Amino acid sequence: MDALARSLADTGLPHPLRVDAARAAIAEGDPEDVEARARRHAHTAARAMLQSVVNATGVLLHTNLGRAPLAVAADAAFTNLELDLSSGRRGSRHAHAAALLARLCDAEDAIVVNNGASAVLLVLAALATGRGAAVSRGELVEIGGGFRVPEVMEQSGAKLVEVGTTNRTRRADFASAVENPANDTALALKVHQSNYRIVGFTEHVTVAEMSSLNVPVVADIGSGLLDAACPWLGDGPPAWLAGEPAARQTLADGAALVTFSGDKLFGGPQAGIIAGRADLVSQCARHPLARALRPGSLVLNALQQVALAYLRRDGQSIEFWRMASLATAGLESRAQAVVAESGVGEVAPMASVPGGGTLPGTEIDSCGVVLDGDHTAALRAGTPPIIARVSDGRTWLDLRTVAPDDDQTVIAALKALG
Ligand SMILES: *Cc1c(COP(=O)(O)O)cnc(C)c1O
Repeated sequence: MDALARSLADTGLPHPLRVDAARAAIAEGDPEDVEARARRHAHTAARAMLQSVVNATGVLLHTNLGRAPLAVAADAAFTNLELDLSSGRRGSRHAHAAALLARLCDAEDAIVVNNGASAVLLVLAALATGRGAAVSRGELVEIGGGFRVPEVMEQSGAKLVEVGTTNRTRRADFASAVENPANDTALALKVHQSNYRIVGFTEHVTVAEMSSLNVPVVADIGSGLLDAACPWLGDGPPAWLAGEPAARQTLADGAALVTFSGDKLFGGPQAGIIAGRADLVSQCARHPLARALRPGSLVLNALQQVALAYLRRDGQSIEFWRMASLATAGLESRAQAVVAESGVGEVAPMASVPGGGTLPGTEIDSCGVVLDGDHTAALRAGTPPIIARVSDGRTWLDLRTVAPDDDQTVIAALKALG
């Protein structure tokens, strides 16, 4: 077994994992080709590791591919995570990225937690445990990955006060729920219906209408669009963004707090942001769950980089926005080059989607390469793996989500399909 494990040294796997591969191969009993089988087990182990992939799906925020693409390169170093460099005293980990985020949303204060779900959980636990939280029946939603508003509510210890009906909820419904002393309502929650729409005979209450209720309004906007005007894009907001709630405008409309994810339209690392009224943010920060849900310096550092790019109005340095705002003409010439150099497939217009449970039904014109047959498994088997899409028995590679530096990787992989 040891000799077999040592023979796998070129796989680059550490010795204990090579031993596991050797053991698995030997356990299969057949002494024939034991090395080849050990190699296959080693290969499987290597494939299970977290690694970079080329996203040719055209889904900009692909949950299976880690949502927003992110560069993380940091040398080993101490940081002033909880040190106030001016006073030399203990500082707050909310003083860096969170402070910049508050500035970006025009909020009094903000804190960062592990993800969007934790942000909602913490707000409800800190502000409404043992009390009522009023939510429209049309917003008692499940967002992918098991985030269900009623279940998060239950975990937080807040009591769900259902308001209105599935398709129609009016301000008066909220007002009577809030005024009813039996409900002991601590807050009203507005949840963005991120990944679905109710159409037809419908009525919604806006944050602006809710803001005159006698309780703070918390808006879970989900996607993390910072500002509907997109000042970080030269041409202003793209048409496909229409109707998406933005943090800055939601607060300006009177929400006491907004919560959103760091890795959706914000384009940063997995994180959850709570921004708004200083007294409420501070109540969240003091709650014991805040300690359990807090991110480390790696995430805060990445978030700070993205926040600084927004403050510089430099959308092009935020990978998500760079990809989202590419003109199709440029994609078309890249697709022509890929087809010409690989000698495989043909250039085709296609439609990218924002993804990540945001903007359902929204498409962004794009361009890429299409080839007959399903080649997704072969493309996925390469190094780095290329993730493509199949439809109508053809394989589609959308170049909007492929970094231009990866075009050569795509060309080599297509050539290999030959
Ligand atoms: C995505 C989303 C969440 C969950 O956020 P995660 O960062 O995935 O935990 C919660 N609420 C809304 C409205 C969302 O869109």
